[in-house]
Amino acid sequence: MKSFIFSIVAAFCFFNCMSQLLIRNTTVVDVENKKLLQGYSVQVNKGLITAIGKNITPQPGSQIIDGFGKYLLPGFVDAHVHFFQSGSIYTRPDAIDLRKYRPYNEEIAWVHNNMENFLRRYIYAGITSVVDVGSTINFLKQRDTFRTKEYAPDIYMTGPLLTTWEPPVYKGLKDDGPFYEMNTVDDARKYVQQHLQLGSDFIKIGYLVQGSNLDSAARKHLPVVKAAIDEAHKNGLRVAVHATERITAQLAVEAGADFLVHTPDDELIDGAFIKLLKKNKVVVASSQIVFKGYTTAFGQQYKLTETDFRYAHPTPLNSLIDFKHLPDTALRNRYLIRTESNRLRAKKTDSLRQLNLKRMADGGVTITTATDAGNIGTQHVSSYFFELAEMQQSGMNMWQLLQSSTINGARAAGKESEFGSIQKGKKANLVLLNKNPLDSISNWKSIEWVINKGVALKPDSVRKLSALEAVDKQH
Ligand SMILES: [Zn+2]
Repeated sequence: MKSFIFSIVAAFCFFNCMSQLLIRNTTVVDVENKKLLQGYSVQVNKGLITAIGKNITPQPGSQIIDGFGKYLLPGFVDAHVHFFQSGSIYTRPDAIDLRKYRPYNEEIAWVHNNMENFLRRYIYAGITSVVDVGSTINFLKQRDTFRTKEYAPDIYMTGPLLTTWEPPVYKGLKDDGPFYEMNTVDDARKYVQQHLQLGSDFIKIGYLVQGSNLDSAARKHLPVVKAAIDEAHKNGLRVAVHATERITAQLAVEAGADFLVHTPDDELIDGAFIKLLKKNKVVVASSQIVFKGYTTAFGQQYKLTETDFRYAHPTPLNSLIDFKHLPDTALRNRYLIRTESNRLRAKKTDSLRQLNLKRMADGGVTITTATDAGNIGTQHVSSYFFELAEMQQSGMNMWQLLQSSTINGARAAGKESEFGSIQKGKKANLVLLNKNPLDSISNWKSIEWVINKGVALKPDSVRKLSALEAVDKQH
């Protein structure tokens, strides 16, 4: 009873006591119009932006933050993460099977236990929204427990991926299973209906094809992909599609996909495809670094950087470094040799991915910053800065990076009317920087305040590193 009363009071305070806020006399970064608005103030009430202007009188009892000399941005968005994956070497048994060293149920339990830790790190970095494109039923349930927590970003989550192929290691995992294999059109429609019951925010399709003739393999699976998209749209759900080849990406978009979670990397995309992406208002994820994450981990070349130390959870990070000490040298060498032999191919796909990203960005396609964090070698939170660096390397300019990391992330989730820019009526998910974000990506780390769900937080107080390490429950 006591805790019930406490939570009522806490909920009341969350929306009323803490949430009146005025950020005064700052430079507002208008990401939609690519403008810096100097000398502006922004008022926040009950989690929403309620006024923007030059002369705003604070409401009585408001918290006032002096924004002079600082820059107010919409909170950042990572539009492609997976909470069922930790980033560790043990997290994808279909890619490398180390279950005899760490059973998969232990890995999954660990990630659930550390989800709060990851979420706090996202807020620490100013990432106030994350889009999880492929999770499990158990993570969907856990998502709901963080909805009102000010230390947690807003989480938009699909349920299990609807795939055209399910890796055998994931079969029989029930509510911990990340894949539903669709073999027929009826399967596709049934699984979409199931997602509606589960409360998935949208649908994710894994359009996975194999073999030497990609075109015919892609067309073979097209009817089930089409059926899933059709059933989702009929029920008001957006559809994200994993398609790393130009052919699967194009067929998915022609079938109505809303969000491509990877930039195609097998051939150069042409003007006609770019036109189609724009016409259909498709959002495309940058996803530049995730494949490199695997090769550096398997190639035992993962190098820790200051960004990793600052933002990443140490446990999965350590597992990558410890991989070289794994007693099974035959297995390690197999992966090492495979990585070496793939190096040439990877060089080609890396450069095509980068060229395609730049082509699409300059062609006016909506690009969103997206890491695919959680995959082996791609750490939650720290990978965001590596992704941005690669996007910049492709030739994207600072305004393109800022739009990709804010309003376009909201577009990926289909929620651009709710967040992603500093506008009256939108969610007060904001970042106040000490340095100009247009000058360099490293300035994006100069966070003075994160305003999350309308509450102003000092980044260090959210991360509370020692407390976080205490909740890192090893199994
Ligand atoms: Zn992914």
